[in-house]
Amino acid sequence: MASRTSEMVCRVDPAQSFDADSLLRYAIANVYGFPQSPSQFIVSQFGHGQSNPTFLMEVHSGSIVKRYVMRKKPPGKLLESAHAVEREFQVLHALSTYTLVPVPKVFCLCKDPTIIGTPFYIMEYLEGRIFINPMLPGVSPMQRKNIYHATAKALASLHSADVDAIGLRSYGKPNNYCKRQVERWAQQYLVSTGEDKSPRNPRMLELADWLRQHIPLEDSSGGAAGLVHGDFRIDNIVFHPTEDRVIGILDWELSTLGNQMCDVAYSTLHYIVDISLDKVEQNGGLELSGIPEGVPSLAKYLADYCAATGKPWPAANWKFYVAFSLFRGASIYAGVHCRWILVSTTKLDELMIGNASGGERARNAGKKADAMIEIAWAFIQRESVLPLHPPIESVPQEHGLQHGTESKDNLHSTGGRFVPSQKVQELRNKLIKFMENHIYPMENEFYKLAQSSNRWTIHPEEERLKELAKQEGLWNLFIPFDSAARVKQVISGQRRDGTIDKAFDGLLGDGLSNLEYGYLCEIMGRSVWAPQVFNCGAPDTGNMEVLMRYGDAEQMHQWLIPLLQGKIRSGFAMTEPQVASSDATNIECSIKRHGDSYIINGKKWWTSGAMDPRCKILVLMGKTDFNAPKHKQQSMILVDINTPGVNIKRPLTVFGFDDAPHGHAEIMFENVRVPAKNILLGEGRGFEIAQEGRPPPPRHVVAAPPPLPPLHHRHHCRRFTAATSAAVAAVSREKEETPFEF
Ligand SMILES: Cc1cc2nc3c(=O)[nH]c(=O)nc-3n(C[C@H](O)[C@H](O)[C@H](O)COP(=O)(O)OP(=O)(O)OC[C@H]3O[C@@H](n4cnc5c(N)ncnc54)[C@H](O)[C@@H]3O)c2cc1C
Repeated sequence: MASRTSEMVCRVDPAQSFDADSLLRYAIANVYGFPQSPSQFIVSQFGHGQSNPTFLMEVHSGSIVKRYVMRKKPPGKLLESAHAVEREFQVLHALSTYTLVPVPKVFCLCKDPTIIGTPFYIMEYLEGRIFINPMLPGVSPMQRKNIYHATAKALASLHSADVDAIGLRSYGKPNNYCKRQVERWAQQYLVSTGEDKSPRNPRMLELADWLRQHIPLEDSSGGAAGLVHGDFRIDNIVFHPTEDRVIGILDWELSTLGNQMCDVAYSTLHYIVDISLDKVEQNGGLELSGIPEGVPSLAKYLADYCAATGKPWPAANWKFYVAFSLFRGASIYAGVHCRWILVSTTKLDELMIGNASGGERARNAGKKADAMIEIAWAFIQRESVLPLHPPIESVPQEHGLQHGTESKDNLHSTGGRFVPSQKVQELRNKLIKFMENHIYPMENEFYKLAQSSNRWTIHPEEERLKELAKQEGLWNLFIPFDSAARVKQVISGQRRDGTIDKAFDGLLGDGLSNLEYGYLCEIMGRSVWAPQVFNCGAPDTGNMEVLMRYGDAEQMHQWLIPLLQGKIRSGFAMTEPQVASSDATNIECSIKRHGDSYIINGKKWWTSGAMDPRCKILVLMGKTDFNAPKHKQQSMILVDINTPGVNIKRPLTVFGFDDAPHGHAEIMFENVRVPAKNILLGEGRGFEIAQEGRPPPPRHVVAAPPPLPPLHHRHHCRRFTAATSAAVAAVSREKEETPFEF
């Protein structure tokens, strides 16, 4: 199973603590976009791995919570070259600024040790999944395949970075990397072993000699040179929360310029050896213990990497690179063990020797070092370590999602990049069943009425189906969890006991994210009649969302609650015939303050839903101040559709269809007087609401719209996908029934 990054934090280790107030002051002054007057600041520590202690910073400002990550040197006396957070910052900055290599963005580097005791940097927090165990337990075979493919691609992407072009030319010495590394780790091993320390293993010294004699030619020629991560393994990678793609490669402490094949071999070490210190006796890698279903063979993983980088098949020097990785690992373990001995015998303060002494687990590191030396020798003595040529297999598909025949479980069984949670799958299955049992069988009936002379009336069955959908829990699923939270806050704030009705709570959706709702929207979109049955029809969804995000308690009681109950419907009146309305700064409808009222004058068209007899409320966009700055002139106001002066002129048609009983209306607003309290959020805030909160109406004709909020995209994009697949299905059925040739 994956661990969520947010679940990998714990309380700050007292040995690593620092002045959090000082850090906060620094962040306020140096991190662009950091909340300037935070109400709360919480620091916790990431528990997994890192020799450079890493912390989660959570900043609350009103209802907004922002997260950042701070990474610092360990306290105490350190080796000059170790724990160089400055270098990490440099490489992350270059990659995040100039390349598409997935890394967290960095905000600032602080070299001044007086702020929190050591240099540190602040970077973006990535919410995602980390797979600690490369066997990927609890993950479907298809996902395992995708995760390994994504890992090979991520390594390839960092190896493809043009170091000259991104300002990293002098980040290290690219040539003779292995030569220098063999000496460095051999020396390190000598320092870590011997009298009073871990026993020195002569087989390690022989291993160093073997490596010296087998350094590949490409090491000195620079044939494999480039940016090297130095610690590239699956548990240093953050995957997207639900998609099997890499969103961040972490832990760049050992990065430099050098021989990239060392990274490649190191990333495959778990095929050869189990490096986990928890299982000292268990040393075999996946090749011995069995490769879990879906995890590619070593050769397949390498083939993916070579295909993505265009590098030659590494069979010729593979023995060297793997043996070197094991040798380096053995030397590191010997060092860890040595520090453990020093700590436990001399009671040296751990703080004096950095963070890598590792506590109790380090006790086993000596044994692990010896095991790795033996495994390296066994590997060297193998007759063949890689096939001479890459396996000829198809490259994994980018998308795990299969399209085609509908299956209630197809998302689950195929896995893939988009794997919804159990909860969403259950909702999806329920929706599919509802569509099959209740919506599709009624479509013809609904159409018939919509084409009759009674076209502007509602079929009674639609209202019955709404009640049924409500009972089945398929109601208001569009509501994002944060919007629901605000409604609860506003409504409960009015009550003395701070509670809200259970029945009301049940109207606030199922706490889904945008992505989760997307899976459901795609099902509802398969019939034009379906969304409103689940109270997820436009423009009500966007209008409800505006009220949820920006409405006050009174506006919520008067309009939001009946909308949430499905008792009334609504319209959104922004577009005007005289002006290019795709840019809302052009609109001309005026909203003038008169005492306790506003007077509205203007002409709107394409107000969808205004023809529906259940439509009771319009959210209107007009201008309260024609002289204010361009984006502060507009305001949104609630208009009861029955207010005198609201004259619905006619339904407009799209390609000859009037979309009854919903309709897109042309409306005149002539001296329409509404109470001043109907303004949303305040005068001059309309443009802001349109951009942030309300999905503007469908912009089918707009080539260059302003940025649209996510809700708009998820509704219309997913429904568009759904409508397309419904059309394809209809054509296929037609083809089966009436054979014809293309
Ligand atoms: C079925 C349907 C339902 C609708 N429902 C609603 C609704 O409920 N409420 C509502 O208010 N509106 C609604 N609309 C209207 C819709 O939002 C507008 O049609 C849309 O925003 C475009 O505005 P416009 O028609 O004024 O076109 P214009 O803004 O005049 O644009 C015409 C063309 O010029 C291009 N263009 C405009 N300005 C620029 C520029 N500066 N640079 C480059 N290109 C530009 C546009 O991309 C477009 O291709 C609906 C429309 C349809 C078709």
